[in-house]
Amino acid sequence: MTFKALVVEKLEDGTTKAAVQDMTEDRLPAGEVTVAVAYSTVNYKDGLCIGPGGGLVRNYPHVPGIDFAGHVETSDDPRYKPGDAVVLTGWRVGEAHWGGYAQKARVKADWLVPLPDGLSARQAMAVGTAGFTAMLAVMALEDHGLQPGQGPVLVTGAAGGVGSVAVALLAALGHEVAAVTGRPETEAYLRDLGASQIVPREELNETVKRPLESETWAGCVDAVGGAMLARVLGQMKYGASVAAVGLAGGAGLPATVVPFLLRGVNLLGIDSVMQPYDNRLRAWQRIAADLPLDKLEAMSQPATLADLPQLGADILKGQVKGRVVVDVN
Ligand code: NDP
Repeated sequence: MTFKALVVEKLEDGTTKAAVQDMTEDRLPAGEVTVAVAYSTVNYKDGLCIGPGGGLVRNYPHVPGIDFAGHVETSDDPRYKPGDAVVLTGWRVGEAHWGGYAQKARVKADWLVPLPDGLSARQAMAVGTAGFTAMLAVMALEDHGLQPGQGPVLVTGAAGGVGSVAVALLAALGHEVAAVTGRPETEAYLRDLGASQIVPREELNETVKRPLESETWAGCVDAVGGAMLARVLGQMKYGASVAAVGLAGGAGLPATVVPFLLRGVNLLGIDSVMQPYDNRLRAWQRIAADLPLDKLEAMSQPATLADLPQLGADILKGQVKGRVVVDVN
C-alpha cells in the first residue's frame, strides 16, 4: 500500500526539488506511533525546509511539515491507541525527522499531544505551530502580569500566522490590540480579527534614536525581531513585557539596556519546539477555550500537498496572509 508524501530531494548541483511522490510505510523513520495525518500547515520554517533547507534539514530525501494533526493508526506506547486524535508541533519534526507533509507519519509518543475536546484536526492545523506559539506568548505575558484594561497590546507581523492568531486571541481575552503591518491592504482583515488600531510598519522599523520613547504598550507579541523589537522595547509601559517569538525582520537586536533598567521592561523568550509536555497541554486547552473559531475560520485558507512548493516560497517572502490549512488526503 502506498500513500502520498511531499518529498524534497537534493539534486547533483546542490539545489533541492520538492514533489508529491508515492511513499511506502517501510521508508518511514523509527518511532512508537504511526499517525494517519489529516491536516498539516505552512510555517516560516516549512518554507525553509521545502526549499533549500536553511541549515535545518541534514539528510535527503526529506519529508517536511513541522506540524500535523490526525488519528493514531498503530501505537507501541500505552498512552495512545488506534483512533486517538492527536496533534504534533515542534521537536524538530519536519526538520531533523520526517514530518507532516504525508498521509502517514511515524513519531515518538513523547512528541504527541491529545487533541483537546472542541478542536477538530482541521482547526488544530488552522492554529498550527504559529498559533500554538502565539498562545505560549500570550500565556507568558499573562504570567508576567498582563491583564485587560492596562492599555493597548502590540502585535508585530500582525497579518502573518503568529500575528493573526495573537490578534484574535488577545482581542477575545478583552485586550485592546494594536496591529503592526507592512501590508496596508490587510487593515479590514486585522480589524475583523479584533485589532482596534493599525500601526504602519514604517513607523517602527527605524533604528533606535532615543532609548526611551512615550510609554505606550501594555504588552507585545513580537514576530519580527530586529530593529522593530529594539524600538518597541523603548515604547513599553513601566514593568510591561514583550514576548519575543520571531525574526521575520531580522535576528539582530540593535537596542540599549535602558528600557530594562529605567522602566523594568521584561523581554520574554518564547520557544515552541522544546516546550515541556504540561505546558503544551495547557496551551492547547487554552486555545480550545479562548480562540474564537469564527475568527480562526476567517484567517484560514485551504491547500493541498501539491500547493506546498509555491506556498513555501510565498511564506519566505512574507506573502502568506494568516494561516494555511493543508489537507494531505
Ligand atoms: P509569517 O510569514 O506568516 O508572518 C511573518 C510576518 O512578519 C509577515 O506576514 C509580515 O507581517 C511580517 N514581516 C515579514 N517580513 C518583515 C520585515 N522584513 N520587517 C517587518 N515585518 C516583516 O510567519 P509566522 O507568523 O509563521 O512566523 C513569524 C516568525 O515567528 C518567524 O520568524 C518564525 O520563524 C517565528 N516562529 C517562531 C516560533 C518559536 O517557537 N519561537 C514558532 C513559530 C514561528 P505584515 O505583512 O503584517 O507586516
